[in-house]
Amino acid sequence: MIASLEPRLVTTIPAAPELGVLYVSVEYATTLHLCACGCGHEVVLGISPDDWTVCWDGRTVTLDPSVGNWSLPCQSHYFIRHNRVVRTARWDDEQITAGRARDAARKRPVRADAPSQAPSRAMGAEETEAAERGERRSRRWLLRLGRLVQR
Ligand SMILES: [Zn+2]
Repeated sequence: MIASLEPRLVTTIPAAPELGVLYVSVEYATTLHLCACGCGHEVVLGISPDDWTVCWDGRTVTLDPSVGNWSLPCQSHYFIRHNRVVRTARWDDEQITAGRARDAARKRPVRADAPSQAPSRAMGAEETEAAERGERRSRRWLLRLGRLVQR
């Protein structure tokens, strides 16, 4: 497991990414890095309120939530906190299934005509709010990025 990832802002992801670099494309709202375990597999994480969020504090980058590479043979699981790779417990199959179900439920579009709308209307509002927050976050990120480029 490598100890850290250095963030690199790019427009497009390079054809031969380097180990130890976290490529962040604001334009495509995506990140890519080679699995921190060193297995060489590419890990692509989308940036959105329902996927990952990237927080740049001016010096380091923190990714939220954790990176669980369940579809890779290594099954590595780690956090990226202030550029540091923090290894965490591997999930068992049950946890992976539950996690995927949670993700799917969160991403399911809210249907206006569904009979069970009464209780979930509030959830729809929450989701909209979350999306707006995400947008504001992206704009802040872009502003910071603009400043960074000007330096
Ligand atoms: Zn790996």
